[in-house]
Amino acid sequence: MKKHNFSAGPSILPQEVLQQAANAVIDYNNEGLSLIEISHRSKAFVDIMENARALVLELLGLEGKGYKALFLQGGASLQFLMTAMNLLEKKAGYVNTGAWSGKAIKEAQKIGDIIEVASSGDANFNYIPKGFEVPSDLDYLHLTSNNTIFGTQIKSFPTTSVPLVCDMSSDIFSRVLDFTQFDLIYAGAQKNMGPAGTTLVVVKEELLGKVTRTLPTILDYQKHIGAGSMLNTPPVFAVYTSMLTLEWLKKEGGIAAIEKENEKKATLMYSEIDLNPLFKGFAATEDRSPMNATFNLVNENLKETFDTMLKEAGISGVNGHRSVGGYRASMYNALPIASVQALVEVMSELENKA
Ligand code: PMP
Repeated sequence: MKKHNFSAGPSILPQEVLQQAANAVIDYNNEGLSLIEISHRSKAFVDIMENARALVLELLGLEGKGYKALFLQGGASLQFLMTAMNLLEKKAGYVNTGAWSGKAIKEAQKIGDIIEVASSGDANFNYIPKGFEVPSDLDYLHLTSNNTIFGTQIKSFPTTSVPLVCDMSSDIFSRVLDFTQFDLIYAGAQKNMGPAGTTLVVVKEELLGKVTRTLPTILDYQKHIGAGSMLNTPPVFAVYTSMLTLEWLKKEGGIAAIEKENEKKATLMYSEIDLNPLFKGFAATEDRSPMNATFNLVNENLKETFDTMLKEAGISGVNGHRSVGGYRASMYNALPIASVQALVEVMSELENKA
């Protein structure tokens, strides 16, 4: 039986995408060869790469607006470094909203001067800092749109003339935003887009080529753009499966349609957290993430009973991150609402039992 998969990442993908990807590994397009045993320079794969790159820009509404999409390797973690290497000349600003922002800050500090413009570290990152000043002399301002571990999400982005760089690893393609407000977006594929192994970078080309440092070839966005995102052998399986997921999203009605589904799932989940006296939400209400709902048991003695009930209901991946504890229900695009219903039922059953 297929489990209800609430994993934070790698995470659930649409069932039809898994089936298509599995078929392609055995025999791609009935060509008598596996997708993962053909040359990345073959027309078959170049078409996949170009289709995936075009779908990204189309779904984000960035076609013809000076942006390029790249499928790179090294995870979002390499982007912590690569963004700084390519964009940081004098000084950059960072908003610290959790563990991943903290790691981005750490890497950027190895490259140049940065300032922490705002932080929610005073409350274990359970909220999003607001109303802070963005100095106008920054090379860029770095934000993390969704904090996977803490379950918070930025709802409204700063209005500033400073270029915005945003780590959207855990909420890309999940909600309608004016994506032109960002100059560089990056996201590990393994939540809303595909399997682990590739990282999406969407960059406004005019932002590049301004730093004076010599960039190693493999860390230079311009070199990747020049090579059509094939500077070295790309992770063909991850790119292909991402392309399938993007096609699935387009068929489902794109970001606007999936956002409505995500809102329904989040409303169902958070209503239970709020109404059930056995549970307490972790994140500040106005900053709650529809992607990752973090919550704790009020009475830890019920943990064993609850965990057993979850297991019996086929619910997987709801354990919270060690820095927050408790539970985290990740509700990425491909998670059906029926899975949230199943989780909510177990939570209310616990209330009836207790
Ligand atoms: N940023 C965010 C918001 C994340 O959730 C994660 C991983 N879950 C990362 C960065 C790091 O991604 P990776 O493991 O691909 O380096």
